[in-house]
Amino acid sequence: MKNSKSPDSLPSYSRRRFLRASQATLAALSTVSILGGTTDSLAATVPRGSTEVPPDYYDKLGVTKIINAAGTYTELTSAVMPPPVREAVAQAALHPVHLRELQQKAGQYIAQKLKTEGCCISCGAASAITLATAASIMAANNCDPLDIPGKIGTPQFPKNEVVVQKIHHYEYDVAMQLCGIKFVDVVTLADYKQALGPNTVMTQYFNACDDVGISREDWIAAAHEKGVPCHLDAAADMPPISNLWKYTGMGFDMVSFSGGKDIRGPQNAGLLLGKKKYTDLAQRNICPVDSVGRGMKVAKEQIVGMVAAVDWLLTQTDEGMEKESRDRMAVIIKMVKDIPTVKTSILVPEVANHVPHLIINFDPDAVGASAHELQVRLRTATPCIELNPHTGSKRPSQGVPEQPSAIVITTFLLNPGEEYIVARQIRKVLKNPKFVGTYPPPPASAAI
Ligand SMILES: *Cc1c(COP(=O)(O)O)cnc(C)c1O
Repeated sequence: MKNSKSPDSLPSYSRRRFLRASQATLAALSTVSILGGTTDSLAATVPRGSTEVPPDYYDKLGVTKIINAAGTYTELTSAVMPPPVREAVAQAALHPVHLRELQQKAGQYIAQKLKTEGCCISCGAASAITLATAASIMAANNCDPLDIPGKIGTPQFPKNEVVVQKIHHYEYDVAMQLCGIKFVDVVTLADYKQALGPNTVMTQYFNACDDVGISREDWIAAAHEKGVPCHLDAAADMPPISNLWKYTGMGFDMVSFSGGKDIRGPQNAGLLLGKKKYTDLAQRNICPVDSVGRGMKVAKEQIVGMVAAVDWLLTQTDEGMEKESRDRMAVIIKMVKDIPTVKTSILVPEVANHVPHLIINFDPDAVGASAHELQVRLRTATPCIELNPHTGSKRPSQGVPEQPSAIVITTFLLNPGEEYIVARQIRKVLKNPKFVGTYPPPPASAAI
C-alpha cells in the first residue's frame, strides 16, 4: 500500500486507481462492443478509427448508477456481467440466427459442460420453474404445450398435482401455478409417499429453505419409486461451482438456476438442467411457440451471454472468487477498525448466497445513528451505495442471524476499485452519521 498514513488519506490514492480502472473499462467497452469486431455489419455502422464514446443512457435518462455492496438482488439488477460475457452479448447482437437451433445447441453445450444430459436456457430461474412444470405436465398427460394451462385438470388431461412440503411454499409458487397445477402439501415422509398418486406430475423442493424437512435423498427415492420427476429450485445456490452438477448428480430430474445471480450471466437468463427428456419438453414450451412460455422469450444475446457466463465461471475457482471478496473486505476493515465500538466479522451463509458477508457491528448510541439510518444515508449520497438487506435486520433469515446494529455488505459484485469508495463512505457515515455527501465529486462529463 502506497499510503501508510491515516485511513482518511487512502481514498485520493484509491480514487485515482478507480478512475484509471473506470477509464480502462470504458475504453475496453467502447472497443469491444462498438469497434472491436471486424465483421462487415460492424464496419457498416461504425466508421473505422472512430473515437466517439457511446452515449451513456443511464445519464441520458437521469437514472442513478449504484455501487452494489449488497449482492445479487433482483431490484438492484443483480450482477454486472464480466467482460467476456459482455463481449459475447455484443457479438451475438450482430447476426440473426434461428432461435430454436440456437436454443438447442446452446443447451447441449451447457449440459455437457455442467455434467448433465440436458439444458433449457430460460428467462431466469422463475421461468425455469414454469418450464419444468410445463414439461412435467406434458410428460404425465402426453399433451401439447398449447393445452397448458386451459385443458389441465379436465377429464381429457386430469394429471395436475405438484407435491411439495408445506414448509417449502414460497413466493415462486406462482411460477408453477401459471401452468394450471394444484399443490398437494405434505409434512411427513409417510404423508409424502401417500400423496404421490395417479395425478402427480412433479415434486417441488426448495433447496435453500431454512428448514429442510424431508431429506433430499428420501424425497427423490420415494418419487422415483412411483416414476414421478423431481424439480429442485437452487436459483441462488452457486457457489460452490460444483453445485451446478451436484444436485442433478444426486438424482433431481430438473434443477433451476438463476443466470443473473452469481453465475454472472444476463439477468433475464437462467438454466433448467437435468434429464434431457424434460429439458427437451421445456424447450418446446418457450418462444417461438405461443404457449405458457411465450412471454419468457430468451433473446439470442441472452442465450449466448448465458453460454459465455458458464464458460467464464468454469475458468474461475471457488477459492479465487472467495479470496477476491476477502481482499476487498480487508480494505474496508482497515478503514473502519479504529472507529470506537466498531467490530467486524465475516460470515458465509450455508446454502443460498454462499459468499462472504462482512458484518460491521457498532453501538448506535456511540455512533449517533441506527444501521438503517446509515443505510439510507449511503443510498442517498453520491455515488449511491447499496448495502446488503441484512443491514439492521431484526430477524435471522437465509442463514444470517439478526443484525440490529450492524452494516452488512458483500464485495463480490463490486467493480475493480469500488471497495475504496465503499470503505471511505462507510467510514464517513460511522464518524459523522449526519453526513450526506458526494465522493468522488461527479465528473462534468459523466463518464464514470
Ligand atoms: C432469485 C430466485 C429465483 C428467481 O430467479 P430469477 O433468475 O430472478 O428468475 C427463484 N428462486 C429462488 C430461491 C431465488 O433465490
